[in-house]
Amino acid sequence: MPQREMPLPTVLEPRGRTIGEEERAAVLRVLDSAVLCGAFGTETRALEAEMAALYGRSGAVSSSSGTAAVHLAVAAAGVGPGDEVITTPISDFGTVAPVLAQGARVVFADVRPEDGNLDPDAVEAAITPRTRAVIAVHLFGGAADAGRLREICDRHGLLLIEDCAQAWLGEDDSGRLLGTVGDIACFSLQQYKHITAGDGGLCIADDPELTRRMRLFMDKGWDRAEGRIHRTMGLNYRMTELVAAVARVQLTRVADVVRVRRERAGRLARALDGLGLSAAARMPERRAGHAWWVMPLLVDDNSRWAKGLQEVGVPALPGYLERPLYANPALSGHPPGLCPRAETLIDRTLLVLQWNEAYTEDDVDRIARALGEVGAG
Ligand SMILES: *Cc1c(COP(=O)(O)O)cnc(C)c1O
Repeated sequence: MPQREMPLPTVLEPRGRTIGEEERAAVLRVLDSAVLCGAFGTETRALEAEMAALYGRSGAVSSSSGTAAVHLAVAAAGVGPGDEVITTPISDFGTVAPVLAQGARVVFADVRPEDGNLDPDAVEAAITPRTRAVIAVHLFGGAADAGRLREICDRHGLLLIEDCAQAWLGEDDSGRLLGTVGDIACFSLQQYKHITAGDGGLCIADDPELTRRMRLFMDKGWDRAEGRIHRTMGLNYRMTELVAAVARVQLTRVADVVRVRRERAGRLARALDGLGLSAAARMPERRAGHAWWVMPLLVDDNSRWAKGLQEVGVPALPGYLERPLYANPALSGHPPGLCPRAETLIDRTLLVLQWNEAYTEDDVDRIARALGEVGAG
């Protein structure tokens, strides 16, 4: 058995994150100002403007988490009791919790076997008169078919929400930024994402009315320019100034983070080709604009691969989730077998490796060798 080498960098240590002197200075700037709450400072508003500019959309609204960001989007879409929202069974719970919080029903559509992203035909088949919105998740940083989902949503009068928590600066086949096709796109700044401020969320949109509703929902339904009047139901989902100040710096780093992740992914692809492994451990076919939040591979038996990789110090998860979202106790009423392609991915074919811009070329070669050993065993 090969010797255990230096562990790969992870997002839970300085060498696996991009937090530096500028973030430190940003935090101190806010502390020195004594204004830490986003309602009264300048950082959260500046972050929103910078996020809107980065994506070329007219508005952005900050919030306390990616889950809160999805909640802003779902609330702005007018989703309430009796409504249905269609989404994928392979995602973070933060994609669906806001729908449940609104008293609405989550309807799960099956995914494409090749990348775990929503199958647009399955989405269209799941539409009923109660459907209000579709939430497309760009899983692992790879593009869902937002173009076709947009067309389906337009035809049925539905709002399209893009969950880009794993897809910072990802692009589709035509080079279009993920998060620019839906009515609203949501992002997360949680510890494990491409960039982080600990926790935090951002929504972007072009429609000023959607932006206005999101901002109201984020701050107790209170338009602070108007007086102490609560126009709509709203929670306190405000981002703090400390978080926003860090996030502003992290936003300047995200292009580099994604660029290096892409370079390293390209190196892995070449190494797998060289080892004759690209059929046994298949990387996503759509690679050009992939944001590589993690490295998803398709294999024959994900438990065997994960175990073999872990034994040589390469962190790997079989299936990403232990079970599809609908099989969790918090979401009762969905029969097993509801989305068979998602279940096959989770139970058998999907293997997820951590991926990090701090991986060196040597790290990538080592991961490839480890895959080679498991593939041969
Ligand atoms: C992380 C994540 C969320 C939730 O974000 P938090 O900031 O952890 O609340 C939602 N959707 C997806 C796809 C995610 O990966």
